Amino acid sequence: MPRTNVSRAWLAIAALCALLVSLGLAQTAAAAPNWPVLSTGSSGPDVATAQYLLRGQGHDIAADSQFGAATEAATVAFQQSKGYAADGVIGAETWPGLISTVREGDSGDAVAAAQTALNKFGYGLAVDGQFGAGTASAVTRFQSDKGLSADGIVGPETWQNLLGQSGGAAGAYALPIAHDALSRDHYSVPHHDYPALDLPVGTGTAVYSVHAGVANQIDNDRCGLGYEVTGDDGATYYYCHFSAHGVGSGARVDAGTQLGLSGSTGNSTGPHVHVEVVAGGANRCPGPLLTAVYDGTTPPAVGDLPTSGCIE
Ligand SMILES: [Zn+2]
Repeated sequence: MPRTNVSRAWLAIAALCALLVSLGLAQTAAAAPNWPVLSTGSSGPDVATAQYLLRGQGHDIAADSQFGAATEAATVAFQQSKGYAADGVIGAETWPGLISTVREGDSGDAVAAAQTALNKFGYGLAVDGQFGAGTASAVTRFQSDKGLSADGIVGPETWQNLLGQSGGAAGAYALPIAHDALSRDHYSVPHHDYPALDLPVGTGTAVYSVHAGVANQIDNDRCGLGYEVTGDDGATYYYCHFSAHGVGSGARVDAGTQLGLSGSTGNSTGPHVHVEVVAGGANRCPGPLLTAVYDGTTPPAVGDLPTSGCIE
């Protein structure tokens, strides 16, 4: 699509974004990382992992990292076979049934799934479906790093840690959308009425927490499905217009933890993600923070982000 059309559509969407009201929900800590949520439109290594696992369950689909119609059909068929809600979304209910325990000497698609997931963390394994000594060594190193029992076996707890954490976001701050999915200029576009940011992404795009904190779900007329994340840095982050929640209220999230999937719920005329940073009682311009994250440079402190200059 020509860029001008994208911008025009985006402005139309932005014009209907609304100011948010914070929610004071109870907060509890989660023990294990949250399972990622994947559906049509999702892409990346977690999708390839799910595709290998579906293959391992007898569904003959390509492991191409793109969640398309074939993956959705396989997911629905798998969910029906297990008596799960057949919604085509791979989330907290579907993952535990989809994974299978693999160990040294095993071979097949579930092993390829584990190798794909391990490679998010930089192990550089050949995805050959053969669980040999190299894969076993990567598993033990991963388990040690995460404080898990280092037995070299990929069981439910290791699976959840492999899938529930982003391998790419090592720093204190992460982009809300995968680096390669949205160009840098989108992170410094002025918002329509108050300091915030609208990111034009299609429905089903993974949305990640910018900073570590405690997430609480939002579900109201303005934000639609979204999150309020009380950040460890003292700022409060808002994410709006999701198609699906990915983590429960009260969950601990890290920078780069997937919160859910983008959409167009609430006061929105088309798919986009609304991001808002509130610090020191004021809405801040997210641009200087997120462009620094995009560039891999040290971002300014949230309390130093400007409160004006990012409104059109
Ligand atoms: Zn907005």
